[in-house]
Amino acid sequence: MQTFLNTVDGRPQPAASTFDSHNPASGEVLGQVARSTAAQVDAAVAAARAAQPAWAALSADSRQAALLRAIDALSQQAEALATWVTREQGKPLGGVGPGQVPGARFELWGCEAWARTSTLLDLPDEVVFEDASRRDVLQRRPLGVIGAIAPWNWPLLIAIWQIIPALRAGNTVVIKPSELTSICSLEMVRVLAQALPPGVLNSVSGDGAVGGWLVEHPDLDKILFTGSGATGARIAATAARTLTPTTLELGGNDAAIVLPDADPQAIAMDLFWGAFLNMGQTCACIKRLYVPEALHDAVVDALAALIRAMPMGDGMAPGTVMGPLQNRMQFDKVRALVEDAKAAGATIVCGGAPRPGAGWFYPLTLVTDIADGTRLVDEEQFGPVLPVIRYRSVDAAVASANRLDVGLGASVWSGDPAAARAVAERLQAGTVWINQHGTIHPMVPFGGSKGSGWGVEFGLEGLKSLTQPRVISLKK
Ligand code: NAD
Repeated sequence: MQTFLNTVDGRPQPAASTFDSHNPASGEVLGQVARSTAAQVDAAVAAARAAQPAWAALSADSRQAALLRAIDALSQQAEALATWVTREQGKPLGGVGPGQVPGARFELWGCEAWARTSTLLDLPDEVVFEDASRRDVLQRRPLGVIGAIAPWNWPLLIAIWQIIPALRAGNTVVIKPSELTSICSLEMVRVLAQALPPGVLNSVSGDGAVGGWLVEHPDLDKILFTGSGATGARIAATAARTLTPTTLELGGNDAAIVLPDADPQAIAMDLFWGAFLNMGQTCACIKRLYVPEALHDAVVDALAALIRAMPMGDGMAPGTVMGPLQNRMQFDKVRALVEDAKAAGATIVCGGAPRPGAGWFYPLTLVTDIADGTRLVDEEQFGPVLPVIRYRSVDAAVASANRLDVGLGASVWSGDPAAARAVAERLQAGTVWINQHGTIHPMVPFGGSKGSGWGVEFGLEGLKSLTQPRVISLKK
């Protein structure tokens, strides 16, 4: 069975010890993954440090060209990597384009498209002030070495979000993938790193302890973290000791508000994918659906019809639309929250009990007759369950949407853009979508409000956060 290794300084790093990676659809062991030691984390940071000055000294155009060569290499391996995503993360292979299941091939396509677009962003020197006596030029210098820590839900796409803008800005990177999806991420880093100068991109695999060694490392200039709020808080506390800046992309519990003028049939498909993309294991997925009494049954019926039509199974089998949950912890959490809702008197319209047999399969589940204050509504469930909550007035729906201490995304659904915009402006979230949910874009800043994070990624705002401003101020 294959052992998957870190890439450090352009070479595979021998493993001191390994751990198994599993297929969530079957429990099968897929391979062994290197468990990094503290010394190996040091070696990766040292390689990134040594490579950074030459990488930063390249012109922006040369860095862009090098990144595009790396993305071409990724494209050539897209099918092999997508297969690893399906086997290790669980999402079906799917395809790309209208009517296709947005699964593993979609994740790879997203990586390539995202990476290419991100390389277009640039931050040239800017004259910020000039008069007869002075001229001030703002430069955006690379920060240096960036440590990135990634989750398991989109193991390639989120890694690309962290890696490409950081490299584009002239930094070098050490990335620690999730221990639950290491094979996909290590394979992707290997492919990208082979096309880049040695040391520009390095990986260190392992569990939270390895992430801890990376965060504690005194020679990092920034930490990018995407994961849970609890881990984010620990990382922020550790990083504070060395005053290392962090960008934290954390959990959410996104509300969607359907306004009374919406057409349930017209919005059903977008609501469905807004809630169930990647089995709901997506940070910005609809987790609380607020509907007016008059539309309740029509919205529930339309969603239930879609849910019942989506085949679930091993993602490698043709025709599969929904795969397993990625891991046992996630499966147990979803099951516990649904059982709690049942005990509180909620109605299970469809789903609601795990599928017997091997694999972490939990059916798409629609829950009604449930209110704010139940665990399923208030806690981040991060799975394929959608509670539908009746509201009496739009004001009450807005208050419900805003009442939690997280605020990643939110959405408003309406046939009237002006009415939707007015409601959107009252919602506490990093992004408020109208008639869509979770549709993020490389040119558009994305980040959480409240407990959902610090800072933003993507777009020029995101790129700026990967640089150190320096002003050159000239007396005339
Ligand atoms: P997690 O916090 O358990 O783990 C994330 C990463 O942190 C893993 O690589 C893990 O090994 C590492 N880690 C764990 N403990 C650590 C420590 N003490 N120091 C350093 N690193 C440590 O999160 P997860 O379960 O992998 O991911 C799911 C969570 O991520 C959900 O809450 C989800 O909402 C969130 N998420 C947020 C976004 C966003 O953009 N806001 C995107 C995707 C996922």
